[in-house]
Amino acid sequence: MTKTSKISGFYRKSISERIDIVKEFANLDDKDIELLKKEGPLNHELADKMIENLISTMPLPLGIATNFLINGKDYLIPMAIEETSVVAAASNAAKMCRAGGGIHSVATDSIMIGQVQLTKVKDPYYAKMTILSEKEKILEIANEQDPVLVKFGGGAKDIEVRVINTLTGPMVITHLLVDTKDAMGANAVNTMAEAVASYIEKITSGKVYLRILSNLADRRSVRARALIPKEALAKEGISGEEVVDGIIEAYSFAAADPYRAATHNKGIMNGVDAVVIATGNDWRAIEAGAHSYASRFGKYEPLTIWEKTEKGDLVGVLEMPMAVGIIGGATKVHPMAQLALKILGIKTAKELAEVIGAVGLAQNLAAIRALATEGIQRGHMSLHAKNIAIMAGATGDLIDLVAERLVKERKIRIDRAKEILEELKKKGK
Ligand code: NAD
Repeated sequence: MTKTSKISGFYRKSISERIDIVKEFANLDDKDIELLKKEGPLNHELADKMIENLISTMPLPLGIATNFLINGKDYLIPMAIEETSVVAAASNAAKMCRAGGGIHSVATDSIMIGQVQLTKVKDPYYAKMTILSEKEKILEIANEQDPVLVKFGGGAKDIEVRVINTLTGPMVITHLLVDTKDAMGANAVNTMAEAVASYIEKITSGKVYLRILSNLADRRSVRARALIPKEALAKEGISGEEVVDGIIEAYSFAAADPYRAATHNKGIMNGVDAVVIATGNDWRAIEAGAHSYASRFGKYEPLTIWEKTEKGDLVGVLEMPMAVGIIGGATKVHPMAQLALKILGIKTAKELAEVIGAVGLAQNLAAIRALATEGIQRGHMSLHAKNIAIMAGATGDLIDLVAERLVKERKIRIDRAKEILEELKKKGK
């Protein structure tokens, strides 16, 4: 019989029955089944309520980054990540930031954007004015959807309307600006956007298609900054001044080149995502927000900026959307997410956003310091190799030839320099 992935009612089966089907399909053995059935901190009964067609859970290493001083408060940072060195690098960079008084981080209010797409309008600018003139009614309809959020001081606060030109003609896009307080807010905003859609259709001559949250959460951002004394950046024979200059060069490269900016930002997201995941937040939403924000001026740019102060110290800033919550979604359901929030000692979504922004900044510092000093180190090594070549008796062109070989072989020693010199001389170089 040929195998088929067309299975009706897979979702209605028990976890055990689903595992049996997968076992047969993929020829799994008893050890595989044992692994699938093994339960971790997120038990299968609970996980089965979170997603569809569940067969098991997928654990990630959870580590603690140390040394973080953010807005004058000490934090131990839970990070869920599979990549080596990230937690160590964050802890190391946090220590350097500590030397300058720690990281200062401020998040804006939790304003999310819900979009309502109005199409087939003959008079888009007139429709825009009509929608704006009905603002109070639109906000009222939106707020009726979530009395709990309104009770906590949140809810739809304002609207803005844009006319955009598209392949299928002009569209009138209404943005519902919703303060979602301690929730990430996707469900809350989507429900509100859906509710106001028919009213917008009624007062205009158009047809609404999409009504959904925008992940370009530029009204809900975090700004983190740190001053790092140059002495705290010095590394194995490389002075703090040299490291600062190397970091500024690395940043300038990222600011000028999207190929580098992508990797620069990936380094930031190593730290950001690890905390987002540990706290049960939606990292796809954070990723989408980060990269769309990075390209908001039509060119992909780094999410951090690094500068040198008058005294020669390093200052860095990070600015990016940070739509995270401590209410709703997996944050409330996943026991490890709850535990992560407990370790952080966080009471509001705003504070969580501030901590994550600080981690992103520190992670970026660690990455570009390592990259910049590696470059400086290599420069130092070739200089050092030339000296060794001269000490071994090389002259003229032979100095460079011997030094290059020493660097390539990573054996910058006088005995090896002498051997290479003899070899080259025999070859008549
Ligand atoms: P939710 O709907 O589970 O919880 C939010 C609700 O909790 C609020 O609407 C409010 O009624 C209530 N609440 C109680 N106390 C509150 C407080 N102090 N502050 C704010 N609200 C309070 O969760 P959500 O945050 O609306 O949705 C998050 C989930 O939506 C995530 O799991 C995400 O993955 C998912 N999602 C994301 C997208 C997207 O990013 N494009 C789209 C759809 C769904």
